Amino acid sequence: MGDVKLEHLYKRYDDVTAVEDVSLAIEDGEFVTLVGPSGCGKSTTLEMIAGLETPSEGRVSIAGEDVTDLPPKDRRLSMVFQNIALFPHMDVRDNVSFGLRLRDFDDEEIDRRVEQAAETVQMDGMLDRMPDELSGGQRQRIAIARAIVREPEVFLMDEPLANLDAKLRVHMRTELQRLHRELGTTIVYVTHDQEEAMTMSNRLAVMNEGEVQQFADPLTCYYEP
Ligand code: ADP
Ligand code: ADP
Repeated sequence: MGDVKLEHLYKRYDDVTAVEDVSLAIEDGEFVTLVGPSGCGKSTTLEMIAGLETPSEGRVSIAGEDVTDLPPKDRRLSMVFQNIALFPHMDVRDNVSFGLRLRDFDDEEIDRRVEQAAETVQMDGMLDRMPDELSGGQRQRIAIARAIVREPEVFLMDEPLANLDAKLRVHMRTELQRLHRELGTTIVYVTHDQEEAMTMSNRLAVMNEGEVQQFADPLTCYYEP
């Protein structure tokens, strides 16, 4: 189902190689974290999985299908970013259903999915609120609900907790792990925070200077302090 395969991926900009020969086989249902210092190529790798950046070389496959030449909307995935941009003039319900309305889902199906997604992130009962009536954690949950509602096989998350305060960040880690267990989807998660990476994921891809140095169980990975 939602396995993700990267084969010899490269991304070169004018004078930088952002990603250099990255190959990863992420299995269906795994929670994999790309971790490493700022500038090591994590976001670029994720953006190539999403289709937001075109690889200079190499292939990306999702669920057994080569998607390298497909636009983002045709890949079976949803992405949650660091900067949670909800539409300020739309209530929570409309924010969550926006992507479905774009894709011409019928009203009944939209309602069903929105209610279910809101329940999953424990935000049912808040669908009529406006974004400025929500706390940071609640907005983050809504951003996640907006991704869930499309029922993707793969979630991509780029530092989704980075803008939250420390207490809420730790709380949301647990929530994301619960969500992963409940939905059973594949998650590819980007963070520079080693502790976050260690506690959340099944496998870590430790990156440095554009390359994956280790791809292993968190307990067996070795870090330079
Ligand atoms: P990370 O997510 O690990 O912080 P990035 O993937 O954002 O790293 O960036 C990897 C490298 O590629 C960095 O050196 C960055 O400056 C460079 N880079 C990223 N995007 C661009 C771009 N659009 N143009 C030029 N260089 C870029
Ligand atoms: P969590 O998302 O983990 O449940 P939050 O930190 O998001 O916790 O919110 C804790 C409580 O504080 C919520 O019930 C929320 O209603 C309230 N709250 C915090 N900040 C705001 C805000 N700016 N506007 C409205 N309610 C807020």
